[in-house]
Amino acid sequence: MAGKIGVYFDQENIGGGLDVEALAAETSAKWGDLTPVVKVVPLLAEAGRTIEEDVTAQGLDGVLLCGASARADSELSRLPALVDHVNLRELCVLSYKNPDGTRPYPRDDAPELLTIMARDYVNMGVVKLQKTEKPDSAAIEGVRRILVIGGGWTGLTAAAEAADMGYEVVLVEREENLGGAVNSISIGSPLQSPWTDKQPSDIAGKIAKVKGDRRITVLAKSSMEKLEGQPGEFEATVSTPSGPMTHKVGAVVLATGWKPLDAKYLAPMGLGVSPNVVDAATFGKMLAAGEVTARRIAFVLDTTIAEEACKAAAEEQAAEAAPEPAPAPAEGEEGAKVFVKEDLESIRHLAYSNAVNSVGMLRLANMVCERTEDATQAFILYRNMTVPGILERFYKQMQDRLGIMMTKADVTDIRVTGSTLLVECRNTLLGMDFDLDVDMVVLPTGLVPTSAKEAVVQFGYRQGPDFPDLQLFDGFADSNYICFPYETRRTGVYAAGCVRQPLTMDACEEDARGAVLKAIQCVESASRGVAVHPRSGDASYPLFNFVRCTQCKRCTEECPFGALDDDEKGTPKPNPARCRRCGTCFGACPERVVSFANYSIDQIGSMIREVQVPKDFKKEGPRILILACENDAYPALDMAGQRRRAWNPYVRIIPVRCLGSVNAIWISDAMSKGFDGVMLLGCKYGDDYQCHFVKGSEICSKRRDNIAETLDRLGVQPERVEQLEVAIDEYDAVPELIDGFVRRIVDMGPNPFKGM
Ligand code: SF4
Ligand code: SF4
Repeated sequence: MAGKIGVYFDQENIGGGLDVEALAAETSAKWGDLTPVVKVVPLLAEAGRTIEEDVTAQGLDGVLLCGASARADSELSRLPALVDHVNLRELCVLSYKNPDGTRPYPRDDAPELLTIMARDYVNMGVVKLQKTEKPDSAAIEGVRRILVIGGGWTGLTAAAEAADMGYEVVLVEREENLGGAVNSISIGSPLQSPWTDKQPSDIAGKIAKVKGDRRITVLAKSSMEKLEGQPGEFEATVSTPSGPMTHKVGAVVLATGWKPLDAKYLAPMGLGVSPNVVDAATFGKMLAAGEVTARRIAFVLDTTIAEEACKAAAEEQAAEAAPEPAPAPAEGEEGAKVFVKEDLESIRHLAYSNAVNSVGMLRLANMVCERTEDATQAFILYRNMTVPGILERFYKQMQDRLGIMMTKADVTDIRVTGSTLLVECRNTLLGMDFDLDVDMVVLPTGLVPTSAKEAVVQFGYRQGPDFPDLQLFDGFADSNYICFPYETRRTGVYAAGCVRQPLTMDACEEDARGAVLKAIQCVESASRGVAVHPRSGDASYPLFNFVRCTQCKRCTEECPFGALDDDEKGTPKPNPARCRRCGTCFGACPERVVSFANYSIDQIGSMIREVQVPKDFKKEGPRILILACENDAYPALDMAGQRRRAWNPYVRIIPVRCLGSVNAIWISDAMSKGFDGVMLLGCKYGDDYQCHFVKGSEICSKRRDNIAETLDRLGVQPERVEQLEVAIDEYDAVPELIDGFVRRIVDMGPNPFKGM
């Protein structure tokens, strides 16, 4: 807890809008001994040395920097004391407008409302720092050994890379032989410059390198029995032919790859119906074994027939299962459709795999032409040719290749006609419809991640052995597609290759390197007792005051990362190195048992209480609290301020770790204090969620429903608390979100508790 705080005001950055000297004098008078140093400096960015001298001379344990956004003055965070920023430039001066919408620039005197706002923010900053402790990190001796699960193309790359970086590796492979699916791909798509031609995969070389490296222990014909513990000190029990073996490992790379989509989904296109219709993976094996005799081959990348058949079958099945016929839709309206969810989800893997199949079809068509000395005619029929990145060069090369004909086409039917197959092509790029007579049809392979519904890691965690909510990601072991590739919802376990996303071979190699780097970063972070992404370097972790714990299990159930185990009674058992410091447990706990050294119920509650809420709503306006997620919403506001977008001056903004960390008590505090409304500003949730902690904003919306009920019972309109979504790049839209909420609150009138 900071007991001696130095407060510094930045003349250059905020002096044009505020009377900085007056603000400094008020701060000094209000906080007295707590703030022995209150200074106005010409420019904070250049005041590091002065502040450092004050820290030493005055024994300051906290430094509050009132000026530009923390993102602008981040260098000053390294001062030898607890440091916090009050963002008076972006959140006050640059974003200020009068309640009637007019902007007061240029001006001589600071508008009164702007001064009141700045005063509130400074006081909130002082009390926040006063209630902040320096975290004691939970450092452990990180084991510098990486467990790689899966010995295919990606797993082998990961193992070799980790060993090259000086880490020991334990490689677990289910099969007797390493190499996986690439064992049947002797010639792969381009893996290096000039990216125009096929390339030997040299899987044998990769296997030999791994087997010959003394830092790598290969456990073949083995599978995971259990993974217990936490990053830095996991205990992996592996079932091997000689019995269970236990290894201490610091982090895990999950590279278990893919399995093919059930053939039934491609049956409407002839798979399993005619022996001359095969999928790409099978065709590759046949080619390698010299079993392809066909000379006219259609490579079909349009799977609309299969998708529509699946949809129709699902509709039919749903209609049969329905207790009574659904009412006919009104004229002009589309009827609500109920599908068999699993089928419709499964078939999506064909679309997800389109890039891999696009490259794969080019590779196979090229190879078959080569093997038959250009005696084969290969027709590549695509709806979407999605060749990723630099492999475009390979695509262009194949466009000019003798023997390959490509066209965009809607493939509307594939049927057996005597000894050949007929492929109906419509809407082609050639400007005509035609039917192709071929000997063989090659269909795409749907790459389904192996983690889907299979407990490949076997976590010994309270939340179960598998990754949670896999259905949300269609089985892919990822926790945030947008911001954090490789991250899973189990800290310390990083997914790479096709278990994460259908990827081409070159991309799998890159993925393996990325995941290994994340795994190493995790081990190093655990050994320093700090968090991994997104709060990289944060030494705080949840502290539990168990005396008050009622063992309600909300925290253990809601933690998005399975960081909390519990005992038989339900008392939480923290695993700090698994924790991402999101605060969801802290938001969940009705007993206020959980806190962080630098983030607590009391800290935010005190900040809320520091705002001066006027009693006269009509004359002095409402006061509205915004709890803004620090990952997207707060930076969006920061950027809006930088761009001089303005919003209503009656709001006060407090950044929170995640909306999942919002404890209902803060909303009660705000309402009792007389705030007229509370806005919860966070990331998008649902299927296209953007929450950095996966579920925070979704959980918050559920809690908000309970809060609304409570408010209703107390006679306060539930609409006074609203949750709104914003993405980091929506800085142009966020001021109107705020203004709209303020207008709704003004229409509602004052909080009935105001002044009580
Ligand atoms: S802070 Fe987040 S990750 Fe850590 S235990 Fe709490 S809910 Fe889990
Ligand atoms: S939510 Fe709070 S009271 Fe409930 S088990 Fe967790 S710490 Fe205990």
